[in-house]
Amino acid sequence: MNEKLTALIIEDEKNICRFIETALSKEGYQTAKAYTASEGLSLISSLCPDVVLLDLGLPDMDGMEIIRKVRQFSHTPIIVISARTMEAEKVAALDAGADDYVTKPFGTSELMARIRTALRHSRPLKEERSEYRCGGLVIDFEKRLICLDREVIHLTQIEYKLVSLLARQAGKVLTYDYLMQQIWGPYSDGSNQILRVNMAHIRRKLEKNPADPQYIFTEIGVGYRMREE
Ligand code: CA
Repeated sequence: MNEKLTALIIEDEKNICRFIETALSKEGYQTAKAYTASEGLSLISSLCPDVVLLDLGLPDMDGMEIIRKVRQFSHTPIIVISARTMEAEKVAALDAGADDYVTKPFGTSELMARIRTALRHSRPLKEERSEYRCGGLVIDFEKRLICLDREVIHLTQIEYKLVSLLARQAGKVLTYDYLMQQIWGPYSDGSNQILRVNMAHIRRKLEKNPADPQYIFTEIGVGYRMREE
């Protein structure tokens, strides 16, 4: 696999956080951690993790509230890790939009299995195309692999998400607002600066001449459009 999958751990107990982090690293995941809800929320919008492991009892906000907030802008799988064992708590978390619920104490193999399941469910549906091909540019959405003229191109998580959003809707103009909302959610600063910066990086990697793009076009004042296959 080209890009490592990123897991974000939101957990205020540092020992548990470290324990999960070690287990995930061993399995080849890239990890990020947050000890508070607000830190966690901003990491979800800046990092776009592939999976979120969430403790419900956090110092600044209840985990249930976080689930609701995240679901307003992201479909990233959320696995709740909690000491709360009441059936009603589990049901409420799942209803709020969590994908799974693991009760403390738990074993690492159980946790890893649940992460794999959550990731499988979040993968693109079968009817969605699994590939974009145009000129020398090939994007394999399942492997998260981008090749240009047969060479693998390394993109950051955010760059990859931007390119794949555009490629999946190639030919359509995606507006600045839509892209901002999809990638950074409501926790962006409201300007498009971060989008422009990322797009400039992408162009440097994908376009032979960024001033005369062949793959991603700017619709001035509106947004970006990817060349149709
Ligand atoms: Ca806690």
